[in-house]
Amino acid sequence: MIEKLILLLKREWNTSKMVESDFITFNINRLIKAFYVAAPISLILIIMFSMFQKVTTPIEEQWRSSIVFAHGVLMIAMVLLRILSEFYIKNQDLKRFGKMIQYSGFILVLVAGVSITAIDLQITLAISPFLIGTMVAGVIFLIRPFHTLIIYTCMLLTFGFVVSGVLESPIDKLSTMSNALMASAVGFAISLITFQTSKRSLLQKGFIESQQEQLEILNKKLRRLASHDDLTDLYSRRTFISKVEDSAMKQLDDFQCISIFDIDHFKEINDEFGHPFGDYVLQKLSNLVLSLLLPGELVARWGGEEFILYMPHRSSTSGFERVEYIRKQIEKTPFLFQEITTHITVSFGVSELQCNELKYFDKAYSRADKAMYQAKSNGRNQSCVYKIDSTT
Ligand code: GH3
Ligand code: MG
Ligand code: MG
Repeated sequence: MIEKLILLLKREWNTSKMVESDFITFNINRLIKAFYVAAPISLILIIMFSMFQKVTTPIEEQWRSSIVFAHGVLMIAMVLLRILSEFYIKNQDLKRFGKMIQYSGFILVLVAGVSITAIDLQITLAISPFLIGTMVAGVIFLIRPFHTLIIYTCMLLTFGFVVSGVLESPIDKLSTMSNALMASAVGFAISLITFQTSKRSLLQKGFIESQQEQLEILNKKLRRLASHDDLTDLYSRRTFISKVEDSAMKQLDDFQCISIFDIDHFKEINDEFGHPFGDYVLQKLSNLVLSLLLPGELVARWGGEEFILYMPHRSSTSGFERVEYIRKQIEKTPFLFQEITTHITVSFGVSELQCNELKYFDKAYSRADKAMYQAKSNGRNQSCVYKIDSTT
């Protein structure tokens, strides 16, 4: 039971500490708004008390001038806090400074209640200003309950000290102090409830935001997985075809071609050095080809150890020259992984895209595939072009 309570208090303490700095700007904005309500009221009271209040006895006169003086001091303090609040709003990274203003504001509201009630005690036992002060402070400010509890207790003790000095009758003292205790308890309860409610909604907001962030990251990953190959990070088939079709439609009158290329004897590489090495070869080859791409060219992993290349503005002859260049670059590149070094070769099959025919991509792909198999059967590590009637 006690352990549970300690755990609960610890959790409350930690979560309150977590949100504390988030509430500073909120508190100071409220302080600024409260200024525009409280300052005119204080001014009106000063005018009312100093001009219209008819007083008959010296005690009433002292009470009246004390009230005017208290509101005067309160006005000065409010203007000062208003200026400091403005400075904080422009420099919100000064968290300690902001904290100081918010606590000053909170204490000022309570002190105003205590002082005006103490002055009123000269002529009445009503403690309305004290009650108003405790409630207003609880409503305006979102401050950690532990801190507000300490401040409310200090205020109550101070008030008790004042009461024992001002009032003489023990009954009056008891009645006033019990009312003040009730007022402090109500003020603290309001402060606790507003703080806890705001804390909960802030934490929930933070939780929802972090869930949304996670979801966004997952969505990004899913989109990437759908459009790219997982192992090589090259375009997937679908993305490649759609990008080629987009590009092809923009240059219908120009030559353009595709090339299928396939690693020679890749099975032997896997068998000799293991699949992780095979994977590394696929990744390194992809990066190498990507680094050799010219503007407008596209490459994708078609499946297994087979890739596809798109070359805009190229006839089959110029496409052939281009893939021959790439093939030679691959041939002379060492593949080094965990102290294993090897070289690989690749066979290319090239075909022009005939955009005026139906299913032009499928047809060009099929021709390029045939040309690639021709390159394989011719002895591998070479490129072949599919001519409309025959392969060369
Ligand atoms: P050829 O020169 O005729 O193309 O011979 P090959 O050995 O390259 O062709 P084959 O079709 O016989 O073998 C292809 C191999 O590629 C078999 C398969 O295990 C391997 N492979 C396919 N995808 C992957 C992959 O993602 N990682 C690895 N390590 N191997 C793969
Ligand atoms: Mg192969
Ligand atoms: Mg193959």
